[in-house]
Amino acid sequence: MRKKLIAANWKMHKTPQQAREFVAAFLPLVRHHARDEIVLCPPFVAIPEVVEASAGSGIGIGGQDLFWEQQGAFTGAVSAHMLRDAGCSHVIVGHSERRQYFGETDDTVNRKLHAALSGGLKPIVCVGEVLEEREAGLTEQVLRRQSSIAFREISAELAHPIVVAYEPVWAIGTGKTATPELAAEAHEVIRAEAAKAFGAPAAAAMRILYGGSVKPDNASALMALAGIDGALVGGASLDPKSFASIVKY
Ligand code: PEP
Repeated sequence: MRKKLIAANWKMHKTPQQAREFVAAFLPLVRHHARDEIVLCPPFVAIPEVVEASAGSGIGIGGQDLFWEQQGAFTGAVSAHMLRDAGCSHVIVGHSERRQYFGETDDTVNRKLHAALSGGLKPIVCVGEVLEEREAGLTEQVLRRQSSIAFREISAELAHPIVVAYEPVWAIGTGKTATPELAAEAHEVIRAEAAKAFGAPAAAAMRILYGGSVKPDNASALMALAGIDGALVGGASLDPKSFASIVKY
């Protein structure tokens, strides 16, 4: 059984103070909720507040990105070691917004994945097609390419913390969600690539989340699907009540 993981990606939202207020309101709503793993990914500057405010709750904290070097003259960058030291357990790698606005490529995603794993973080690796690719019938090809390059030269022994988030880019922040059939097909393609890279048992154990306009009113239908092992939630994770009702779908 793969335990579901429900992760909040706050993107560039919430000051440290607002993040603290979120946690204060959110924790009572999910107290005793042990069915799923919950992860909050605040902006870097709010990580210390979220770590402190959620201490002892069992909630994991993630960075939204990292750089592959450990330290050095890399202005603006944050390493796996820094995230770990700040109290993070997870890190998002290769989000489509990083690919779209910050020059992330399949190769940099692979380098970051290596860095996250060797730095002791559980990576949430995002893959997904843009609308033009889906309309051109290229979805499977894109998912195979993104996944196989992300997984390159990672050994089966090291791969077990990897979580993949399938996020069709046309569904992010648009209110559109993939149909259960489309999501299931995509998840199968990703799991097949994981099996090629890490072997069938590791692939069967790997969690593959769905992301793209997950909301309180569609979460239970999506989470009911056998191949969907949780959700990466953007907009609907910014409000404590809304995110709590997704967690408790
Ligand atoms: C995301 O950006 O990871 C995401 C899924 O966003 P939203 O839920 O707002 O579509």
